[in-house]
Amino acid sequence: MQIVLAKRILHANDRIAQDNRGKFDAAGVLAVNVLGSPGAGKTALLEAILPILGERCRAAVIEGDLATSRDAERIEAVGVPCVQINTDGGCHLDAGMVASAMDALDLAALDVLFIENVGNLVCTAGFDLGESLRIVVLSVAEGDDKVEKYPPMFSGVDAVFLNKIDLLPHTDFDPERVQENLRRLSPEASILRVSARTGEGVGACAEWILGRRKPS
Ligand code: MG
Ligand code: ZN
Repeated sequence: MQIVLAKRILHANDRIAQDNRGKFDAAGVLAVNVLGSPGAGKTALLEAILPILGERCRAAVIEGDLATSRDAERIEAVGVPCVQINTDGGCHLDAGMVASAMDALDLAALDVLFIENVGNLVCTAGFDLGESLRIVVLSVAEGDDKVEKYPPMFSGVDAVFLNKIDLLPHTDFDPERVQENLRRLSPEASILRVSARTGEGVGACAEWILGRRKPS
C-alpha cells in the first residue's frame, strides 16, 4: 500500500516536472538544480558565481529551505532576483513547489535559473524538478566516500563542484577517489575543483554553466 502511494506521488511529481521543463525550454531558460549536504557551500558558491554570470546573462535563484530566508537574503545582497520556498520542515523540493516559485518570476527575462535544493544527500535526488542540469556541491570537509555512500545523488549528475578545495592540505581527502567513483557511476559528469572562499576555480565553474546554455 505504501509503495503504491509513493509511486503515485512520484508520478504526479514527474508530470509537473515535465510541465516545468516545457516552460523553461519555451523561455530559453537553463534551469540548474543545485544539490548537496547542509554546509557544502551551495549558497556560498552561488554568491561567488553569480557576479561573473551577471556580466554575460540574466540569472535568478529559487532558494529551498526548511525555514528562514537567510540564503535568499544572501543572494539578493549580490543583486540577483531570488524567490524563497520554505518547505515547512520538508526535506526536499518537489516539482510543485518549483512551479509555484516560477509564478513569481518572469521567465522570459531570464537565461539561467538556479534552484538551490534543501541541504540533503538522500531524497532530494529522487525528485525531478524539471531542471536541465544537476550539479552536486561536495565539500572536502565532508570526506571522500560520499559518492560510494550516496549513489542516487551522484548517478546521472552533470557536474560535481568539489568545494573548499583550499582545505585539501589539512585533510585526508583524496580527490582521485571521488573522481574514480564518479567515473563509474556517471561517466559523463564533469568534476571541477573550486573554493568559494578563496575564489579559486570559480571562473571555471561559471564557464562550465555558460557552456551548457543552448544556442538561441
Ligand atoms: Mg544554502
Ligand atoms: Zn525529502
